[in-house]
Amino acid sequence: MIVVYNKSKCCGCTACASVCAHRAISMEHDEQGFAFPHVNLDLCTNCHLCEEVCPLHESPETNTARQTFVALASDHREQLTSTSGGLVSVFARYIIEQFAGVVYGCTGKDCFHVRHIRIDSIQDLPTIKGSKYVQSDLNGIFPKVKTDLKSGRYVMFIGTPCQVARLRKYLRKSYDKLFCVDFICHGVPSQQILTSAINEFDLDDTPHEVKFRLKEQGKPSQYCLQLTDKAGSVLYKGKYGKDCYMTGFIYALFYRDSCYQCPFASRERVGDITVGDYWNSDKEYDYLARSKDGLSQMHVNTDQGMRLYQLLSDQLRVEPISLDKLLKHSGQLSHPMPRHRNADIFWTLYKKSGFNIACRKVLSAEIRHLRLQPITNIVFNIPGFKPLYFLLKKKLRK
Ligand SMILES: Cc1cc2nc3c(=O)[nH]c(=O)nc-3n(C[C@H](O)[C@H](O)[C@H](O)COP(=O)(O)OP(=O)(O)OC[C@H]3O[C@@H](n4cnc5c(N)ncnc54)[C@H](O)[C@@H]3O)c2cc1C
Ligand code: SF4
Ligand code: SF4
Ligand code: SF4
Repeated sequence: MIVVYNKSKCCGCTACASVCAHRAISMEHDEQGFAFPHVNLDLCTNCHLCEEVCPLHESPETNTARQTFVALASDHREQLTSTSGGLVSVFARYIIEQFAGVVYGCTGKDCFHVRHIRIDSIQDLPTIKGSKYVQSDLNGIFPKVKTDLKSGRYVMFIGTPCQVARLRKYLRKSYDKLFCVDFICHGVPSQQILTSAINEFDLDDTPHEVKFRLKEQGKPSQYCLQLTDKAGSVLYKGKYGKDCYMTGFIYALFYRDSCYQCPFASRERVGDITVGDYWNSDKEYDYLARSKDGLSQMHVNTDQGMRLYQLLSDQLRVEPISLDKLLKHSGQLSHPMPRHRNADIFWTLYKKSGFNIACRKVLSAEIRHLRLQPITNIVFNIPGFKPLYFLLKKKLRK
């Protein structure tokens, strides 16, 4: 039976719990709010199936991209309503419309329980759009994917690389009708941390939906925690640099332990297609119409990925880019995010004094730096200031 000796090896994918026919495994939360398997010895028959699906000590099967692109959806609406280029929505729409297939993705419609859901109608597509910067609950999802595939339906699964890898392992065979999309992944906080952050706001009403990126036409998308009520009215909006949750997320303060040693933070990918943001900082892709409304990177990794890309090429605007350039652009294609130096202090303070106090204390230097950044940017752009500054700094150091 499954025993998690080293917590940083378990990503909480639920594959072990899903495979146990005796329902001997339940997922239980630790004090940071992350789920780990717990075996009821009275129910366990020692069949070892849970160990077989769990690749705790095994390297996942991966592929290096055959082709890499900077890309965006040809349909402007898809791009505007998604996190970056809107590629995932184009893929999902195609699977539902052309193949009468089903799509599994993550919804933020209940901010107190961010989770994966199954959709098979276009009307539900907006429910799974957008990045949710929190661990998505997969409870019960893998068996549903298997049932759909066994009944002959086309299935698209969108998730973190660890979720995709564990789904493949759980299924134990490949399916022609399965398309897996993973994304470049920073790491995930627990639902408990997000819930603590929300509960400490003084809101006028009960929040319903959570979003993590703010997109305004013609402006680069920004990291921003937004909460809306059932009618869609905004109850809270806090941008990265001001909002503690968003700032802690970007600085890797409270991720699951497995994220800091993530074996998937690599150019070697588990998805048929990998997507990620492409911040066009050198303006090289400015010539692409609407590039300011969000650009993605796309890695086509397998035959199945190539098949999907070819079917959809007229619905995407793509430009080739080298993998080497993407490796320089996206750190998480080479290494996991390093754990924040104050993470231990954060967890101790969080337990004692709550989320906001803990965050503000351990992130004070970063928050100050981000507040001053607009001023420093202006000053550093004054012609001649930069060399003078570094010269003075060198002299003072001597
Ligand atoms: C936790 C997390 C960390 C990320 N880190 C990076 C990064 O470091 N670098 C980078 O380039 N890109 C990162 N991304 C990906 C990026 O934010 C965009 O999602 C991606 O570029 C795709 O954009 P899109 O416009 O095509 O689709 P989107 O509209 O953003 O769709 C994203 C899809 O991902 C699924 N999804 C959303 N949240 C989760 C979740 N928590 N767990 C599982 N599946 C989810 C949804 O079902 C949705 O269909 C991250 C995303 C998440 C969720
Ligand atoms: S990684 Fe997944 S399958 Fe393995 S122990 Fe953790 S939850 Fe279970
Ligand atoms: S060994 Fe078999 S019965 Fe026991 S927990 Fe694992 S899957 Fe369930
Ligand atoms: S960083 Fe790695 S372990 Fe963490 S959620 Fe992403 S893929 Fe999974």
